[in-house]
Amino acid sequence: MADRRRTSRFRVRAAAVTRATLLAIAGACASATGVAGGTTSSSTTALRPRLVVMIVVDQFREPYLERYGDLFTGGFRRLLDQGRLYTRATHDHAITETAVGHATLATGVYPMRHGIVANEWQERTPKGLVDVSNVDDSTVKIVGSPTLTGVSPHYLMRTGLADWIVAANPRSQVASVSAKDRAAVQPAAHAKGQVYWFEPRAGRFVTSTYYRDRYPAWSDEFTARELPRFARDSVWASTIPAAALGRASADTVPWEADGVHTSFPHRFVDEGHPGEYWSWFSATPMLDAATLAYARTMVSSLGLGRDDAPDFLNVSLSQTDRVGHTYGPLSREQLDNLLRLDRELGEFFTFLDRTVGAGRWVVGLSADHGSLVAPETPWPGERAGRRGTAEEKKMLTAIRDSAAKLENDPATAARIAAALRRLPFVADAYMHAQLMSPSNGAPTDSFAVLERRVLSSIASSKAGPVTCAAPATAVRTGTIGTCPCSSWGRVSRRAAIRPARRRWTSRPRSRA
Ligand SMILES: [Zn+2]
Repeated sequence: MADRRRTSRFRVRAAAVTRATLLAIAGACASATGVAGGTTSSSTTALRPRLVVMIVVDQFREPYLERYGDLFTGGFRRLLDQGRLYTRATHDHAITETAVGHATLATGVYPMRHGIVANEWQERTPKGLVDVSNVDDSTVKIVGSPTLTGVSPHYLMRTGLADWIVAANPRSQVASVSAKDRAAVQPAAHAKGQVYWFEPRAGRFVTSTYYRDRYPAWSDEFTARELPRFARDSVWASTIPAAALGRASADTVPWEADGVHTSFPHRFVDEGHPGEYWSWFSATPMLDAATLAYARTMVSSLGLGRDDAPDFLNVSLSQTDRVGHTYGPLSREQLDNLLRLDRELGEFFTFLDRTVGAGRWVVGLSADHGSLVAPETPWPGERAGRRGTAEEKKMLTAIRDSAAKLENDPATAARIAAALRRLPFVADAYMHAQLMSPSNGAPTDSFAVLERRVLSSIASSKAGPVTCAAPATAVRTGTIGTCPCSSWGRVSRRAAIRPARRRWTSRPRSRA
């Protein structure tokens, strides 16, 4: 039964989709017969979902659905046809990075409240400024790989959906898997569930001692029997139908990847390093296929969705982000990746119908952030700006470096802000006090979020009297949208610098 409901159709306008784009599709998959209903009559109780599936597609730009929607025949197609599509949703924080987006999706609150304000930040400790990475935790270890840095959700300052589900029913299970540690850990919030991510150095999906001390037999079995199947995929060849090739940008363009290996087919023997197969593999769409295979194994082995205690499964698919960073969001590689992901998701949903039961599971799919296009290949209707010069990069880096050393000295900050404003590619620069002033309104920009964390969040957290060395000045680069960076990875970061235009259909709950 088709149940396609669209809310406030958003028309793409110039530069409006280059930041923090959130795609949110909530689908009551299979027969949409009241699965999403919240009534309590006995007839609908029987149809309550047994499995809640959260899918995050990393760097999934909302306009992909407009540009490529007719090419999708699998999971995206099913969600489009049977789900609810929010076309005006966006992450309402400025530093739209992976850890922040996942933590926000997990908790429903702003970064200032959940505490994951960036992928990396600095905190002031009695020993001085300390670099902090979102899930790194030296008090725990990676199971089976004790030399790797341990990982846990200890910086996450709020509970999340996974916690609430378990609190409501202690028999509920929490499972989470991703190619990235942060994308597996944050969605599971603090629940000590089955949480795994792919670690190329270990050649398997790993977990940390925060969750458990040894791998379950089914995980070892996946590593021994299923993963080798992916080791045979040492060629990434295009699966784009000939008629659709013109929908992406040209395949051989000098700004992609290393400037040499820019076209299909991509081969491990050409692009990888001997003995490091899993590193090369981790840059291809095949890792998403492996992630979904691991998710299927979890559903089967853990018996997710088999009884009336609803279970929670997060699957965060990272490869759209990695392909986007390497080749650009309009590249032929990205189109191929999306077509593969569409097919993989379709198979996954069919698998859930078979194992959990059609109509007995619900899924929500979102991006954690968007991305900018390469200046050379603007999205239709968008101003893509221009690529910054080496000289401009140098100027900005120098100012950034001096800002990073600031110790909340207002006079120095003012001088830096003035220097920034003089740069031809900077639209505006803000001081700490400006961001924090009451007239600044609701803390919907993450620079304000970051600054407010200094004043209140950290001081009241378990971390004790620690403050965050937030930048005293924030660069706003709105007018030309250019990127003086060489990689798309940094483009995302710069996209984050400019506050997103607000276009909500719903706001995250404020659980202050
Ligand atoms: Zn991301």
